Amino acid sequence: MRMRARAFGVGVLLMALAADVFAAAQVKGVRLWRAPDNTRLVFDLSGPVKHSVFTLAAPDRIVIDVTGAQLATKLDQLSLTNTPITGVRSAQRSPNELRVVIDLSAPVTPKSFSLAPNQQYGDRLVIDLFDQGADSSPSLPPSNVAGKPVVPVTPTQPVPKPVPLPGGKRDIVIAIDAGHGGEDPGAIGPKGQHEKNVTLAISKELQRQINREKGFRAELVRTGDYFIPLRKRTEIARKKGADLFVSIHADAAPNRSAFGASVFALSERGATSETARWLADNENRSDLIGGVGSVSLDDKDRVLAGVLLDLSMTASLSSSLNVGQKVLSNVGRVTSLHKRRVEQAGFMVLKSPDIPSILVETGFISNHNESQKLASASHQQALARAITSGVTQFFQQSPPPGTYIAWLRDQGKLSVAPREHVVSSGESLALIAQRYDVSLAALRSANSLKSDTIKVGQVLSIPATTLAAQP
Ligand SMILES: [Zn+2]
Repeated sequence: MRMRARAFGVGVLLMALAADVFAAAQVKGVRLWRAPDNTRLVFDLSGPVKHSVFTLAAPDRIVIDVTGAQLATKLDQLSLTNTPITGVRSAQRSPNELRVVIDLSAPVTPKSFSLAPNQQYGDRLVIDLFDQGADSSPSLPPSNVAGKPVVPVTPTQPVPKPVPLPGGKRDIVIAIDAGHGGEDPGAIGPKGQHEKNVTLAISKELQRQINREKGFRAELVRTGDYFIPLRKRTEIARKKGADLFVSIHADAAPNRSAFGASVFALSERGATSETARWLADNENRSDLIGGVGSVSLDDKDRVLAGVLLDLSMTASLSSSLNVGQKVLSNVGRVTSLHKRRVEQAGFMVLKSPDIPSILVETGFISNHNESQKLASASHQQALARAITSGVTQFFQQSPPPGTYIAWLRDQGKLSVAPREHVVSSGESLALIAQRYDVSLAALRSANSLKSDTIKVGQVLSIPATTLAAQP
């Protein structure tokens, strides 16, 4: 290339350089996402730009000056419903200088950053407008001028849990985190299904089912189609007083024929399998896709490795593995499993030091059959039922002090509703007993069995476990 460039005349070279300097990036499209406490505008660009943002009052406006850009799209097509934005205008101040003015019905706090191209998108300019008054301050690490994250010296103090009242009967709070959202579609299925929509549908169903259980309350971390950075997700869960964090996903696998559900907990060291590592890397990329600005994967990991992994995490990790195993064995009754044990990898979203956290991969959206199942309401309900069973079983065995479930246990009133199991091929009585955590003798007597021979299709009733007697 260099040789050939030299072959051109100097004049040609100068012209080429000049054209390069003045070639403005095109603003090819604008997208808008509304979250409960902020509005995000994303400008899709044909190349990198420089920009500055300032606010004006009376009337409230945000002015965005973009250097090296020309508008090649319309700004009046955006749906502004439920946002504080009343209009978006633009003016080309010079061939190289674009000004965008956002008219507002209320003051907002802007935060803006550029994002480099990735697999899904090209260059982007992101403007986050945080509502004022709401508890909405952007709680992300501040960036210095060079765009490197400022490493916090001390971890954010966890919100203290309410002191349990003797005989208190509060609900056990389950934070349900629908993976991805907004700018980050997650994995994309063979028919174009977006993981973010599947995860939200399953999460809403899961919330509905958990809320039907007395003594439990489910809170959604994400309630609609908008992006939440990974660290903000655990923070929302903590603010809601979560006793458990459940992140719902339906990812693509490196191998398109891979199928089955899995449950993950955090690993402080390596991943337990290649797939686990691959999925964790993929999930952790969410912040780069959705954009929190200036935080790279390596930086995040270093910050977290040093700051968040303390002793209390070890305690929550053993709870995570315990609840994860219960969820996994219940999910195994409604769908195939990718792995029979809880896997571990360095998932960013599970790095919450004080809340047991699991990530449920409900299936692989990259698998043709599984993507169709994942999109069906009946399968979503079955998955939600299975996760609910696993979660309630865990908390019936280890209820946090001061909760209604702990009170029930202390009163000796905790009984588990009888369950049924339909025998499928390859199952033995011993295996079924093990799966439901009941003794073989109890299973035999509950079904008046004289031998351990069972038939495919036979319906067994599963006796209630005597939970009050367990430590
Ligand atoms: Zn995912």
